[in-house]
Amino acid sequence: MPRVLVGDREFDSALDRGERGDVDLDSAITLYYGAKRRERSDRLFEAAARVRDATLGRRLTLTGHLHMVTRCELSASCKYCSLSSTIPSVSDERSPLTLRETLNGVRYAIDRGVRTIVLVGGTDLEGSDERVREVVTRIREMTDVDLAIDVGPSLSESSVRWLGENRVAPIYCSMETIEPTVFANAKPGDDLDARLRFMETVERTGGHLGNIVMNGLGGPADLLRTVLASRQFPHTSHLHISTFHPVRGTPWARRRPASLPSSLTVLAIARLAFPRLQLGLAEVGVENPSDLGSVPSQLAAGGGNMVAALLVYKRLRIDHRERILRQAAEVGFEVS
Ligand code: SF4
Repeated sequence: MPRVLVGDREFDSALDRGERGDVDLDSAITLYYGAKRRERSDRLFEAAARVRDATLGRRLTLTGHLHMVTRCELSASCKYCSLSSTIPSVSDERSPLTLRETLNGVRYAIDRGVRTIVLVGGTDLEGSDERVREVVTRIREMTDVDLAIDVGPSLSESSVRWLGENRVAPIYCSMETIEPTVFANAKPGDDLDARLRFMETVERTGGHLGNIVMNGLGGPADLLRTVLASRQFPHTSHLHISTFHPVRGTPWARRRPASLPSSLTVLAIARLAFPRLQLGLAEVGVENPSDLGSVPSQLAAGGGNMVAALLVYKRLRIDHRERILRQAAEVGFEVS
């Protein structure tokens, strides 16, 4: 879609509607392009932050993310993922953790006061049930920490129910984009229908659903349509927006990065559309460590109330707690 010129009255009307939670694709597009002007983006962000404050308050929970608890078995890796890099030191960044390394990662997070841990793994369309159950069982033997899991559509319905019984929530399945041709281009080894079916499975079991969409796969209208598609899944509790960043050696190494300001604009629009969701930018720490510098920006754009503070990889641990604590205090957020 070409860049859309938006008049003041049109923008103001979309923003008024948005503050009442009334956001459709047309008004989302109006807000997106209208916010190219600084004065308007300031008002959009202020409205989104007011909605967040009213629904969730100004409290932050720090999360720890363990990569990768399961191996990604896609026969063609996603074109943006470090696994598709021809440079071994880059593709190794997402090597799977052993069970011992996973448990050590959990201990590392707990010892640093992090009480919410996200287990991140790859996609296995044949199923990662056995491995996931083993990992969760062993973690539950050592701690009652809040657990979430993100292994794509790699689990059977009975495992989804089992995870619910073991207090694992949300269960993520990144939609990335709901546009089939855009999805197939970016993720040639993946299956959008399988992802949508899995999201329906989580809905059916009554579980909480997490979703990640990526800025930079298609155009802005594709992204906004994908964000609003969360309405098809009323059990969605967490929605994150990742920002495409080219990774060395991957098929998309030379593709233009998506911009952080555009992700923040989409985040603010998402807040108006989904006042009560946990919303934020997705961490892609090992590929783009500067991402976590955006915490004050995402809070100003209505994000909240969970922020990735610890990232554990096979050969790398990143601890951003001190910086986040300082930044949160500067913008008047309490941290738990
Ligand atoms: S599904 Fe995830 S881990 Fe697997 S190739 Fe795609 S982005 Fe990488």
